[in-house]
Amino acid sequence: MGSKNCLMEKISNNLVLAADVGGTNTRMAVVNENGDILTLLKKATHCKNGRDEMIEFIISLAVETIEKSNLSKEEICGMGIGFPGPLNAETGTIFNPPNLDGWDCVPLRGMLEKELGVPVAIENDANAAALGEWWKGAGSGVNSLFCITLGTGVGGGIILDGNIWHGASSIAGEIGHTTVIRDGIKCTCGNIGCLEAYACSGGILRRVNDALLKGRNNDSLQPLTDLKQVSQVIKQGNETVLNVIKETGVILGIAVANIANLLNPEMIVLFGGVTNLGENLVVSLKEEVKRRAFKKATESLRIELSQLGDNSGILGAAKNIFSKL
Ligand SMILES: [Zn+2]
Repeated sequence: MGSKNCLMEKISNNLVLAADVGGTNTRMAVVNENGDILTLLKKATHCKNGRDEMIEFIISLAVETIEKSNLSKEEICGMGIGFPGPLNAETGTIFNPPNLDGWDCVPLRGMLEKELGVPVAIENDANAAALGEWWKGAGSGVNSLFCITLGTGVGGGIILDGNIWHGASSIAGEIGHTTVIRDGIKCTCGNIGCLEAYACSGGILRRVNDALLKGRNNDSLQPLTDLKQVSQVIKQGNETVLNVIKETGVILGIAVANIANLLNPEMIVLFGGVTNLGENLVVSLKEEVKRRAFKKATESLRIELSQLGDNSGILGAAKNIFSKL
């Protein structure tokens, strides 16, 4: 009995490393099976000199996070990572993320497993965020969820019955590169009229500044350089800027209405810095969804903001490795 109890205790205390790795910042944590974050470190990602430097950085941050937790390496039973795509989650191979230099078909999972001596699971960062929100955030308790990340890019992750839906070649959920305007702005992916070109932070800023330039009354206003300034200018009553944000909500609403009709999910979670633009964006988004999607799809649809914020990726990465142990 004694040994059984001891084993049970060990299982219930299972701890993993979980990382949300980005081209700018990396967050790494020790997480338990209940989704409690025990230790959390955040650092600027070392990646200027290419992929080898970045891999070394991930390994040294992993070691540092374990040390800060006063744990031994043996007490960590796995590592989950959210990483910029495109990547193959099954093999843990990173293809060529647009914002990272020198990554082309890198078998990151195998490399980290060799260095750290524990099983590693790698997931696209948007999918990890979706899984985190489903496990411990806004989507807790729902069966189907689509999480849209609205930041420097626009990404998406699909959770169906508690599992990430990857599709045939790991592209599922790429809502940012679906077409919302037929003859629209050219996107970094090569297509024209993609959602991302309008609704990512850079796209919104460019459209705000274009509108201000056109509005002769606002000649004195310098170009805005971040979304905080956009929010401030709206608070000061600038109708031109407000209209661009409402229009962004409409464009996002078109994409969400398509998701609602296509997948009929219980919930859409909106995540990322762009959501800080607040109610103006979200209200026009919700109105547009109601206007365009089937009533049956919208009646059962909840559109919520992320509850976990910056921690959704870490918790999704943790859940991902726990589900594989
Ligand atoms: Zn695109």
